[in-house]
Amino acid sequence: MAKTSKAGGGEVPIVNPQLIDGAKDFVLRSKPVRRVPCRVCGVHGATERSDRLCWICQHLKISAWRDSGAQESASE
Ligand SMILES: [Zn+2]
Repeated sequence: MAKTSKAGGGEVPIVNPQLIDGAKDFVLRSKPVRRVPCRVCGVHGATERSDRLCWICQHLKISAWRDSGAQESASE
């Protein structure tokens, strides 16, 4: 009596689970940067990489640095 088992015939290649895990890992790692709420204005669109600042607050922060940089040069 023939069993209705798909395994053993070798007709359908079964993907190695390790390959699937590797693919998942690759997908997770290559996923776009996770978006978080901006810690200053709360706009959703900031990233961990950008110090949790949206691009607007990043821009403001950079210009603030430029403005205050010369004044606070030797405070610490
Ligand atoms: Zn912001």
